[in-house]
Amino acid sequence: MNEQLTFIVAKALGKDVGRGIARMDPADIQALGLEIGELVAISAGRRTAARVLPAHSEYRGKKLLQIDGIIRENAGVSLGDTVPVSSVASRNAKKIIMTPIGSGTTQMDAAFISRSLQGMPLIKGDKVRISLLGLRNQEFVIEDTIPEGFVLLKKDTVVEVLQLKGSGIKKANQITYEDIGGMGKELGRIREMIELPLKYPALFQHLGVEPPKGVLLCGPPGTGKTLIARAVANEAGAYFLSVNGPEVINKFYGESEAKLREIFEKAAQKSRSIIFLDEIDAIAPKRVEVTGEVEKRVVAQLLTLMDGLSSRGQVIVIGATNIPDALDPALRRPGRFDREINIGVPDYKGRMEILQIHTRGMPLEEDVDLERVAELTGGFVGADLLALCRESAMHRIRKYLPHLEPLTEGLPADLVARLRVSMQDFLQALEE
Ligand code: ADP
Repeated sequence: MNEQLTFIVAKALGKDVGRGIARMDPADIQALGLEIGELVAISAGRRTAARVLPAHSEYRGKKLLQIDGIIRENAGVSLGDTVPVSSVASRNAKKIIMTPIGSGTTQMDAAFISRSLQGMPLIKGDKVRISLLGLRNQEFVIEDTIPEGFVLLKKDTVVEVLQLKGSGIKKANQITYEDIGGMGKELGRIREMIELPLKYPALFQHLGVEPPKGVLLCGPPGTGKTLIARAVANEAGAYFLSVNGPEVINKFYGESEAKLREIFEKAAQKSRSIIFLDEIDAIAPKRVEVTGEVEKRVVAQLLTLMDGLSSRGQVIVIGATNIPDALDPALRRPGRFDREINIGVPDYKGRMEILQIHTRGMPLEEDVDLERVAELTGGFVGADLLALCRESAMHRIRKYLPHLEPLTEGLPADLVARLRVSMQDFLQALEE
């Protein structure tokens, strides 16, 4: 008993997210002296626990520990890290005190929270995420538990929600790689190009590999370009600055160049940052084709700023566009946006993954056939699939509360707890 072994941190399965689950090779579970369903402690930056379940066969034999972004944050580890894991005992919680975190806090009553977190292993300082029918997430930080140490939330555990501001150290609803569907290959390339150079600049220098300064993400709207940029920033522990191309040009007309300089300066002040230039084609169109002096100056300014970035790679600029050919060619020269990744419309398998992500927190009736939904949604991008899932849930809610605002503000949690979304809801939402 109490064997300690090391494992490599890997992404969680979509359906496990938010449930406090660690998947491992059954042989490893046994080597730790554990039964399926018992707890492991992950001791890295912090100590946290998860419930072990067997990994699917393709993930076995690789010494992997598959945990979601919340557990990774709770343990202070990132994907690819090697971490010590051991078995750990827990006691049933008599009482748990938590505070909601993040702005625009959703009211949830203690009974609903308690039901949602049944059986979760918890320790003081952990973050947990609770979903309201998949429409909204609310995160909480565990302020205290009785008894102390690792506890399990049980039916008779008293849950107390303090309305204080959370401890402030944790940010709410961070996007992680488990939130991105249908982009296995692309995500791998993004990690290599952006996350690794940001995290291990010394390693790249040592190898004589120049980290990129700029990466272009090319693809239609709603395919997840912003999502992937936010996820990589979060996973790399980088500061994220987002700039909307048309907004810089129109809203800051006359001050566009100053605005760009300001953003690059802000990024340079942080130890690592990602600047996301959405719809970069609006900022940097081909200069031969633009007539306005202002536009020409903005392109020139962006080029100067890119060239001024140090090659040590603490700032990486991600540009997103649907029309890469409209960009000024000077922008795509070496040392500027010299890498490109195409983000396409998802195929059937991608749609399936995306549907699973957006129905994660959604109680579904048995008859819901996501494979069928994926078949019926050819041509849909991620944003369309998100809208479809939301609309299906709204459909169900409106049957009970016909006059509800679409934002689900103040949705009674006890009602939500009883709702289940059916295949009919999906089919009707599809027709609309
Ligand atoms: P883009 O930047 O390409 O226009 P976004 O990242 O803004 O697209 O997509 C909008 C929303 O649609 C995302 O926040 C996400 O909820 C959903 N979405 C888009 N693509 C995906 C995807 N590949 N996987 C999961 N969700 C997605």
